[in-house]
Amino acid sequence: MIAQPLPPLERITEQVRCPLCDTAEFCVVSPANYPEELGEENLLRVYSSSSDHLLMDQLVACQSCNLLYLNPRVRSEIILDSYRSAVDPTFVQQNALRIRTFRRSLRTLMRRQRFSPVTAPRILDVGCAGGAFLKAATDLGFSGVGVEPSAWLCEYGRKEFGLDLRAGTLAEQKFSAGEFDLVTLWDVIEHLLDPRAVLGDIRRLLRDTGLLVVNFPNHASLVRRLLRRNWPFFLSVHLTYFTPQTISLLLERCGFHTLEIRPYWQTLELGYALKRASAYGSVWGQFEKLSRRLNVSALPFTYNMGQSMLVARKS
Ligand SMILES: [Zn+2]
Repeated sequence: MIAQPLPPLERITEQVRCPLCDTAEFCVVSPANYPEELGEENLLRVYSSSSDHLLMDQLVACQSCNLLYLNPRVRSEIILDSYRSAVDPTFVQQNALRIRTFRRSLRTLMRRQRFSPVTAPRILDVGCAGGAFLKAATDLGFSGVGVEPSAWLCEYGRKEFGLDLRAGTLAEQKFSAGEFDLVTLWDVIEHLLDPRAVLGDIRRLLRDTGLLVVNFPNHASLVRRLLRRNWPFFLSVHLTYFTPQTISLLLERCGFHTLEIRPYWQTLELGYALKRASAYGSVWGQFEKLSRRLNVSALPFTYNMGQSMLVARKS
C-alpha cells in the first residue's frame, strides 16, 4: 500500500505536552486561525527575531499548572532551522537604542542586587541576537559570552562590537560548570522549545551565588488584559505565555528561587515601534507616516507593554 502524503499542516505541526509540568491535558483558550496557504517557505519567514506575524496557532492552558502555550505548534526542527538561518537587518538597526536600554537595566540591577564587574565579572547572554546586551555589559566593565542560533547575528555582533558570540544552541556549547556570575535571557524564554532543558543547563553553568535574569511578556499584566487579543506579544513565534506565577513555578522546578519580578521598560525608535504596532490596526501605520513627515520617527520612545523582568538565584 502506498502511503498518502500528509496534508501540509500535519507535516509542519506537532502536538506537545506542557513545557512546564509535562501534563498532556489542556483546555483551548483560543483556536488556531491558519491562513489557507501556509507553506513551509512562509513559516521560515515567520520565525525570525523581529517577526511580527500575529498569533495564528491554537493557544491552550495546561489543566495541571495553568501554563499558557501553543499546541499543536510548528515542529521543533522547522523552528530551530529558521532561527539558525535568520538574517535580520531590521532588528539590528535598533541596536543603538537597545544598548542604551540594556545599559540602564544593568545599572539598575547592579544597584538593586549589589554586584559589580569586580564581584561578578563573567556574563553569559543566552539568545544574544546581535550582541546589544553584551555590548552594554562590556561598556560597563563586564566580560561575557553570547550564544545565538543565528550565525548571521553572531557574525554581525563580532564584526560590529568585537564580542565573543557563539553560534548554535546552549546545549551545543562547551562551557564549564559554575563558569558564570550572571546569566541573562532577554526576550528569549517565550521562544524556547524546551525552557526546562535550557534552565537546567543554565543552572549548571551558573556559580552558586550567581544571578539569573529573565525578561518576559507578562500575560497577567494590565496592558494585556486591556488590549486582549490586540496585545502585541501574541505572536506565532512566542510558544509560551508566562504570568509571574507560572514563570516562578517553572524556575522553582528547575532549581531556582525568584528574588523579584518588576515591570521592564524598553526604548526603541518611535517610528520602529509604530511600524510594529501597525500590524494591529491601520491607525498606527498612519501615525508612523505622520512621525516620518514630522521628522520625529528616529526619536527614542520608552514604553512598557506588559514586559516584566525577573531575577533569581539557585535554590
Ligand atoms: Zn503544566
